[in-house]
Parts: sequence; structure tokens; C-alpha cells
Amino acid sequence: MGQHQLSDHTTLRLGGPAPLWLSHTHDADWPDLARAAARHAEQPFTLGGGSNTLAPDQGTTRPVIHMATRGIRTRHLGEGQVEVTVAAGHPLAELVAHTVAEGLSGIEYLGGIPGTAGAAPVQNAGAYGQEIGDRLATVTAHDWTTGRTARIPAAECGFGYRTSRFKRQPGRWTILFLTLHLARSTAAAPVTYQHLATALQCPLASRPPLAAAAAAVLDDRAERGLLLPESGHDHRQVGSCFLNPTVTDDQARALRTQGGPVHRAPSQPWRASAGWLLEACGYGPGAEITRGVRCSTHRTLTLTAQPGATAHSFRHALERMAGHVRTATGIHLQAEPVAV
Ligand SMILES: Cc1cc2nc3c(=O)[nH]c(=O)nc-3n(C[C@H](O)[C@H](O)[C@H](O)COP(=O)(O)OP(=O)(O)OC[C@H]3O[C@@H](n4cnc5c(N)ncnc54)[C@H](O)[C@@H]3O)c2cc1C
Repeated sequence: MGQHQLSDHTTLRLGGPAPLWLSHTHDADWPDLARAAARHAEQPFTLGGGSNTLAPDQGTTRPVIHMATRGIRTRHLGEGQVEVTVAAGHPLAELVAHTVAEGLSGIEYLGGIPGTAGAAPVQNAGAYGQEIGDRLATVTAHDWTTGRTARIPAAECGFGYRTSRFKRQPGRWTILFLTLHLARSTAAAPVTYQHLATALQCPLASRPPLAAAAAAVLDDRAERGLLLPESGHDHRQVGSCFLNPTVTDDQARALRTQGGPVHRAPSQPWRASAGWLLEACGYGPGAEITRGVRCSTHRTLTLTAQPGATAHSFRHALERMAGHVRTATGIHLQAEPVAV
């Protein structure tokens, strides 16, 4: 415990003090830590790598549980299936690299996403057509409403596009472990993105070699500004700032005639590209939105904090951009980063 600044633990480097700080480093200590957090009147906030968190300038009086547990265990299930259990604080990118090195397919397209494994189910983290929820068997989570730890089957996690029951019930759960079912394979899952297929020199929907697919993802992310830089102009960011919004059939038709990309997964509504909508409203890479808040130099959809930025000015930038798109198109953009 001690006085921690949220700005030291979020990739935006924003956020004030968190006087009640509980670092979860050892699995066995969880019952003691949970008891300490439960003694506080306010529900705790669970923080992973802070790469999707917008923390307030004034800080928080809620206890902050910082997930810092590590460890990956594997168990052979037979018929080429392997169960992988990972501690919530383990970096997701390391988990992906580990499974690829072990010759396990299932999450190879999720490489390079910053943050912890435990946060991945919260927004059903996804990239290149793959989502963590697709391969999850169970999530072990502490339920602050009952004070008990439960093992929740993936089918009960309510996964959707960048959402889950954990996101829909903010503050209720602290995820402690994930269990994934992966397949032993030298081939990756089918490639569903044309530019990745082009880079891998294979047809769309074919299965490229596992290690090559994972490497191509990292190259592509580097090229498109989707890796978190350690320093430089764009390093204070939370990745994409808006979800791709759902649109009606009429809106989808209208966008298509203007050259706007729309897509839909089977039995799902149409979704437009948030980045394209922002650019159609005149925003572009590097644009200053509010004091100290700019689009990244690589992509409009990523906002970066610059010297002088505050959480307040960052939130204002999100509201300004969403308001502009709403006025111009009637389409509602939903912010992706989570407020403490
Ligand atoms: C450069 C960059 C690229 C990105 N690319 C992608 C991408 O391709 N796809 C994608 O989906 N996301 C992407 N993101 C967003 C972000 O990295 C992911 O959402 C990631 O899963 C967040 O992990 P974290 O540990 O940093 O979460 P945090 O920011 O710490 O937390 C995010 C939310 O999850 C909750 N949470 C965290 N840990 C737990 C836990 N153990 N139990 C319960 N709740 C918890 C928090 O309370 C908060 O509500 C990107 C971000 C950046 C900066």
C-alpha cells in the first residue's frame, strides 16, 4: 500500500493519486487482498496494464487492485488440444508469443496488443478477425457482489464485439485466471485480412505457417502504428479511441456510395469504420483536437496525450470528435477506453 499516481500506471500517463493501492503479485495472497479491499466502502477498481484506461485528473478514492501476477501452465487434453491457464497479470503479448513458440494455434493474431491477459476478456480483445473469447474455456473471477470466486464458462461471459459481461457490469468482477483451449498445429488459423494475406503471400482464408503469421501481425502493426511505442510523439495513447459503430441498412448504403467501408459478421448489424468517419469529418493524423491532445502521427483513430494534456482535455477531445460525427452523419461513436 502507499500513495500511487495513476499516471505512473496508465499508457496515457494521465490520472491523479490512488491512495489505496493493492498490488496482486501472488495467487496465494488473493484471499487476504480481497478481504483488505472489501473492508473499504467503495468497490475496487481493477487495473491491468492501463492501456485502455482513462484515469481522472483528481485520482480516485476507490481501492485500486493492480494485477501483477504472472505465470502460464499447460495441460495436454489429447487429440492435439492443449489447455493453457494464464495468470491475469501476465502480459497478453508474452502469452501470445509463448503459445506460438510452443506450436499452439488459436491466439496468434492477437500478438502486439498491450496490457494484461486478465483484461483481454473485458473488452473481448481482438485483432485481424480473432478474438480472445473464441478460444477461452473458462474465466476465474472474484465477484465483489457475493465475495466469492467463480469459474465462469466462456458461454456465460456474454462476449460480443469488444464487449463482455465483465465490461457490462463494471466493477463487479476481478479476473484472476484465464483458461484457453488451443490446438497443436504448425499452421495458423485462416487469414481473414487481405493485407496480411498479401504480406504472407498466401490466398485469403488459407492457413499460413503459424510463426510466419504471428511475425506478419507484428510487422503489420508496426507499419500501421498499432504497436505501443516506448517513446516519441505517439507513445502516450490507448490505441483506437472509438469502436466501429453499428449503422442501419440505409446508413450502410449511404456510406458505401461515399466510399466508406462497412462490414457485417454473420447475423450481426452493419458496422462502419470509425476511422473513416472521423477522416470524412476532416480529422487526420497529427490533428490537434483539444489542448495537448492530438491524433497520432500514424492514424486518426488513435488519440495521443502531449505535454499539457489532462484527462479532462482527453475526454473533451473524445466528445468533440464523436459530436462532430453525430452532427454530420447521425452516427453515434462510442469511446473505447474505460474511465475509472
Ligand atoms: C497501441 C495499442 C494498441 C491496441 N490494440 C488493440 C487491439 O488490437 N485490440 C484490442 O482489443 N485492444 C487493443 N488495445 C487496447 C488495450 O490494449 C486492450 O484493451 C487490453 O486488453 C487492455 O489491457 P490492460 O491490461 O492494459 O487493461 P487496463 O487498461 O488496465 O483495463 C481496461 C479495463 O479492463 C478492466 N480490467 C483490467 N484487468 C482486469 C481484471 N484482471 N479483471 C477485471 N477487470 C479488469 C479495467 O478495470 C478496465 O475497465 C490497444 C491499445 C494500445 C495502446
